[in-house]
Amino acid sequence: METSIIGWWFTIEPYVYIGLTSECVLLYNTLDGEYIESNKVEIIQLLKKLLERNNQGVVYLTNEDIQNRIVESFVDEVREKYMGDIIDIALSNEKPVQILPLFNFLDNEKLEVYKRHNFSVSRNLLENLFEITIHVNNETDICAFLNFLKSVPSKIIFNIYGKLNDVVNNERLLSFLDNSSSLKKVYCLYTEIPCSQTFFMNNFLYCVLVNFPIDIRLWEDVLITLREQNLSYKYIFNVASLNDCQDAEQLIERFRIKEYQIKPIYDGTNMAFFKEYVFLSKKDILSMPISIKNIFANQAINTYDFGKINIMSNGDVFANMNFLPIGNIYKDSVYDIVCKELNEGESWFRVRDKEPCNRCVFQWLCPSPSDYEIAIGLTNLCHVM
Ligand code: SF4
Repeated sequence: METSIIGWWFTIEPYVYIGLTSECVLLYNTLDGEYIESNKVEIIQLLKKLLERNNQGVVYLTNEDIQNRIVESFVDEVREKYMGDIIDIALSNEKPVQILPLFNFLDNEKLEVYKRHNFSVSRNLLENLFEITIHVNNETDICAFLNFLKSVPSKIIFNIYGKLNDVVNNERLLSFLDNSSSLKKVYCLYTEIPCSQTFFMNNFLYCVLVNFPIDIRLWEDVLITLREQNLSYKYIFNVASLNDCQDAEQLIERFRIKEYQIKPIYDGTNMAFFKEYVFLSKKDILSMPISIKNIFANQAINTYDFGKINIMSNGDVFANMNFLPIGNIYKDSVYDIVCKELNEGESWFRVRDKEPCNRCVFQWLCPSPSDYEIAIGLTNLCHVM
């Protein structure tokens, strides 16, 4: 470094997300996933200063500051990873202008979030409902269901759980759904899949649920029928152990299954399996670049639950079935139900703001809290803290 120069502007690029706690700082390049982590007091202080509202991502460093070995090597790393730069102050006496990606929804008032987003609550609120899961059985009141479904916005994804054959007047529901251009996903155990009858012709997908152990003969029959009838399908393998995972892999390979999902199931006894194969490590979190948009989404909403409701066969509506109902389709309108979740609900805005996530630099890089956290009774399913 030139000692004749009187100082430097240190700046961080707008695409760099900064996670800061009292003990650690993380600089995360949202374009390529590169990162720098430091627990050095000098670096934490420097980033704290850089994030001050008045500084807006640019701070002045004296020659003395920059000759500090820790600061110098940090600045070098920042430059090597294209996360920021230093500018000779002689080139810019005025402080350079920088724009930082700042999440400024400082309070957690749910409707406030909407107002600040310039959503008109009355006009746009229902546009944020985009997925409805319907649970049906022989007690389902099809008339009430249809009245409700006719009032929801178009282009909603419908998930249907339960034995459709058992539903009284099911043809009315099926006809309504089939006339909709929305995607319909029919969730069915492979042992119960109604292959003899094609329910939907228009934009549907069978999600075939598989629990282990399987009945291999029945499995083969169902697969043959799905293929012969040219149905759209995807397998969902529910796995609770490593053995289940291996069995699923064998089926996928042997029967050349192309569309599938492997879904871990917590059964209360398989914590060791979850710790080994489901809990996140730092390497997992940083394995793929996370966009600034996703980081902001993680701060604002629960990305698993937001925009989704579940309707039970008795009409009760849940934003997440682990919490209290937010209405009932027999007496509440879709508008009231969505308003209730926005005003008082616990699901759509469930973010990582609890201990220990709220003092972790990965707080907003980690995916939203899922149902596993609730089932297991922990707020962080990770090996980081
Ligand atoms: S789950 Fe929580 S504690 Fe664990 S890495 Fe993510 S934010 Fe940090």
